[in-house]
Amino acid sequence: MADLIYNIQPDEIYHLGAQSHVRVSFDMPEYTGDVTGLGTVRLLEAIRKTGVKTKFYQASSSEMFGSAPAPQNEETPFEPRSPYAAAKVYAYWLVRNYRDGYNLFVTNGILFNHESPRRGETFVTRKITRAVARIRYGFQDKLYLGNLEAKRDWGYAPDYVRAMWLMLQQEGPSDYVIATGESHSVREFCELAFQQVGIELEWRGSGTSEIGLVKSTSFPACEGLNKVPRPGNEVVAIDPRYFRPTEVEYLLGDASRARKELGWEPSVTFSQLIKIMVDADIEELQNLEQCQDVVRKIVNAR
Ligand code: GDP
Repeated sequence: MADLIYNIQPDEIYHLGAQSHVRVSFDMPEYTGDVTGLGTVRLLEAIRKTGVKTKFYQASSSEMFGSAPAPQNEETPFEPRSPYAAAKVYAYWLVRNYRDGYNLFVTNGILFNHESPRRGETFVTRKITRAVARIRYGFQDKLYLGNLEAKRDWGYAPDYVRAMWLMLQQEGPSDYVIATGESHSVREFCELAFQQVGIELEWRGSGTSEIGLVKSTSFPACEGLNKVPRPGNEVVAIDPRYFRPTEVEYLLGDASRARKELGWEPSVTFSQLIKIMVDADIEELQNLEQCQDVVRKIVNAR
């Protein structure tokens, strides 16, 4: 890394690399600490030792707040609830330490969850939108989820990347929270995503026996498909495998500082975000060889 930084002499470095899946970090805590925590120190050391004048952005995370009461801002003390979050807290403080100790332009962006069609398929938003597209067109029966009550402040990733860039265009380094200021549960995300394809959900049961059924659909029963979802079909179920040993129940960001100092505002609402992601997953389905004929026929017939 020192060689690369010395040879490239970059103006700006955006350090986004990490083992970033919270559930996975419980299974691989040491690896997560190495990549997510120590990886940051390796980069900071490379900058310090080469003496290259570069600005450095550290992808800090709202997961660092963990169980701290909402709303969370730059002053909120961290209460990390996973190996991932603990590794990010470590990296956050190393950035602060290198800023103070070596006078480097190193900035922490504390970004709340940011989503887009490029989100990995095992994160809950993309897992839901992908399943909704597949269920709607008969390529999947059911979606298995973990904790439906967890609340997150979900924004649109391109807005957040703009914020990262803005942070490095400031006079000096600092720390900024980036969030929409709205928090929704996994359950709400799920309901809206199904609505997006014309499926109303209703919930029955509780705990690990809770299920999501199709209450009604806005499309005809027969579209030349074998498995088009019909009222009464069970489309959501709980799988305890997706529970975490310690959960972050409620994240809600207060990005007033970024609004004031960076002039940053989110441009996409919660329901717009879901529409963007569901539409992209339907589009992707149309491009899959085994699905394209079926989906295109229905979409074109509208
Ligand atoms: P995180 O906020 O970085 O952990 O992002 P995720 O998208 O992985 O998870 C967001 C929330 O959704 C967490 O509180 C999870 O416990 C909850 N959740 C519920 N069901 C699932 C699931 O099936 N997969 C994932 N990844 N998260 C789930």
